[in-house]
This record gives sequence, C-alpha cells and structure tokens, in this order.
Amino acid sequence: MTLEQQDKKYVLQTYARNYTNFVRGVGSTLYDDKGKDYIDFASGIGVNSVGHGNETLTSALCDQAKSIIHISNLQVIEPQAKLAQRIVELSGYDMGIFFANSGAEANEGAIKIARKYGETKFDNKRYKIITLEHSFHGRTITTVKATGQESFHTPHFSPYPDGFSYEKSIADVYKAIDDETVAVLIELVQGEGGVQPFDKKEIQKLSTHLKAEGILLIVDEVQTGIYRTGSFLASNLYEIEPDIITLAKGLGGGVPIGAVMTTHKEILSMGEHGSTFGGNYLSASAGLAVLEVLSSLDEKGVIAETLAYFSDKLQSIATRYENLFEKEVGLGLMRGLRAKDAQIQASVASGCMDEGLIVLKAGRNTVRFLPSITISKDEIDEGFVRFEKVICSL
Ligand SMILES: *Cc1c(COP(=O)(O)O)cnc(C)c1O
Repeated sequence: MTLEQQDKKYVLQTYARNYTNFVRGVGSTLYDDKGKDYIDFASGIGVNSVGHGNETLTSALCDQAKSIIHISNLQVIEPQAKLAQRIVELSGYDMGIFFANSGAEANEGAIKIARKYGETKFDNKRYKIITLEHSFHGRTITTVKATGQESFHTPHFSPYPDGFSYEKSIADVYKAIDDETVAVLIELVQGEGGVQPFDKKEIQKLSTHLKAEGILLIVDEVQTGIYRTGSFLASNLYEIEPDIITLAKGLGGGVPIGAVMTTHKEILSMGEHGSTFGGNYLSASAGLAVLEVLSSLDEKGVIAETLAYFSDKLQSIATRYENLFEKEVGLGLMRGLRAKDAQIQASVASGCMDEGLIVLKAGRNTVRFLPSITISKDEIDEGFVRFEKVICSL
C-alpha cells in the first residue's frame, strides 16, 4: 500500500491533500522522501514561527520530554506560569491567561468570557457577538458560526448557537450594536479570508467607541500574534487595548497550544472553564523557547529587517506581474498577492509545489505567504526566484 492509499483508506478525507511526503526540515527549507528541497513560505499555516529544526526549540522540547511531559491542570505547572508572565510582559497588557490547545478552543474561551461578562455587567443578559464578513474563527460548532463566511454555515451541522451576526465593514458594526450586544470579535488582518488588514485609524475609533459603551473588543490574534505582523501582537501595532485576545498558531512553533488572555481576570469562577492538555509542560516549554528566540531577534532588529526584505521582493513581483495580480495585500510576514481570478491562484499554488516552493491559498483569490519569522535572506531570495519561474511560465 502506498502512503497515499493508506491515508485515503484510514484517514477521514476532510482535506484536499497534497501527497508530497516531507521527512525533514532545516530553517525554512523542507525535504521530501526523494531528497527534493522546498522553500517553505507557508510555515505550516503560520505555525512554525521559528522554522524547522530550531536548536533552541528542539532542545527545550527534548529536555522537557525527558523530565515531565504532562501532569494536569490540577497541579501548578512551572513553564505554564512562566509562559503566561512572558506573554503578558511582551504584550504590555495587564491581562490574565488561560491556556488551551488550538485557535478554535482559544476563541471558545473568549466567547465564554464574553457571555459571562454580558450576564454579570448589564441589567439584561447580553450575549450577541458581532463579527466581520470574510472572517475566520475556527471549526467547532460555535466558532464556525462566529466565522463570517456563509459557506461554513452548512445546514449539515445545524442547529448552531444563537447570537452571531456579520457586518460588511467596520463602519457597519456601529449600526449593528443593540442592547443585547456584548462584544465585537475581529481579526486585525483577516487571514483565511484573504490577508486583508483593517485600517488602523478605523480600528482605534471602534475600540474607543466600544470602551465607552462597555462592549468588549475581542481580537482574534490566532494568526496575527507572535510577531507575525512585525510587533509581538497586531494589537500592539494598531495601538489598541482589547479586552480579550486569543493566540495559537505561532505560539508553540508547531506544538499545539492556544491561549485566551483578558483584562477581566475575575470574570470566570473556579471550575467554569478547563482543559486537560492546555498549557502542559511540553507545550508551555515550546512556547517559552519560541518567545526566547523571537523576542531576542526582535530586540536586535532582525525581524524588522526580514519583514522589509520580504516586503520589497513581494512588491517588486506585484508591480512586474500586473497581468496576473491585482495587488499586493497584508502586513508584516502575513502577505498575499490577490490574483485576477481563481484559475490563476490555483495554477500558481500548484506550480510552486512542482518548482519546490510552498505557498498557501486564501479567500478572495489570494496567493498567501506566511513564512517563518526566522526565515533567512537567502531563503527569501531562493523562494522568490522559484516563484518567478512559476509565474513567468503562466
Ligand atoms: C487558524 C485560525 C483559527 C483556528 O485555529 P485552529 O488552531 O485551527 O483551531 C482561528 N482564528 C484565526 C484567525 C485563524 O487564523
């Protein structure tokens, strides 16, 4: 049986999978089982924030695995407490953190916090959460309903929880607020929905308005967090102070971890939320190692340099291939090229794989780039050489 046959026979077929078998990675270069190399401009959908085989991360994981992998959240967990402190310090927000295992689970936590806040802080119970069209918040029944894309709300999984509505733009959010609205949930750069950043001034204005109304601002930083936009959090870059922030993807460098952080540290009472695995020794140690690597690169100005370098290369492609791409979109190392149509987007993505370059697709016909934060200039150069070879021949 080939690997492809084995996968098709035993794994539920919920992904449109590529069957290249990757066996090893070094930095932002991956190798398949035939020894062919690929430049990784996807980092496992924004997860491998420190690349593949990072020495600090892998030795932290090996050391931790040899001592304790897991106890439970009924015991204090030293690396978890340290990681919480580090995230709070780097963010600059006076918040408390709950650890989960994924982005969707972090958002579930955020929704629970918002709903309890809505019950305790207002005379009537407020429970409605406004999100944006083209948003993506996860795959659980609740977070899929929070996702502002009709195609995700398939009737197969109904009934969905009540209380979610979707607005076309930030300007529309104001009108949608009623006396049952408890929160607005947004990504500052919509990732899956097409790598589309919101305007900073518009977000700041919304944030001020929500604060005045006592309505919570929840920022889903599952993709934008952990230096993806150049700052530790996109909320830092936008200079806002959200009430709740969720994290996941890049935080563990590949080890599953999610987090919800909030200024409302007392809102959940003991026993009201929990997770068996959340923030265990292994994942919290991974998070600590990732933050050690990235915060030090940030202090040295390396992340800003990488970001500018990647940006220049991408912009040059965008201006030279106006026949294929409408525009360049995104922020920091969360970038995209908006293709003229879905056909171009598909050919670019599959052509890149053949040429030895991994890119992603996102909504609105976007070819998406989510390289690791530690990607080198050489790898960026080589990646764009391969990219240009592909688009030249289209
Ligand atoms: C990926 C993503 C999620 C879902 O994260 P999972 O770990 O797959 O559950 C939620 N929100 C945003 C913005 C994401 O990019």
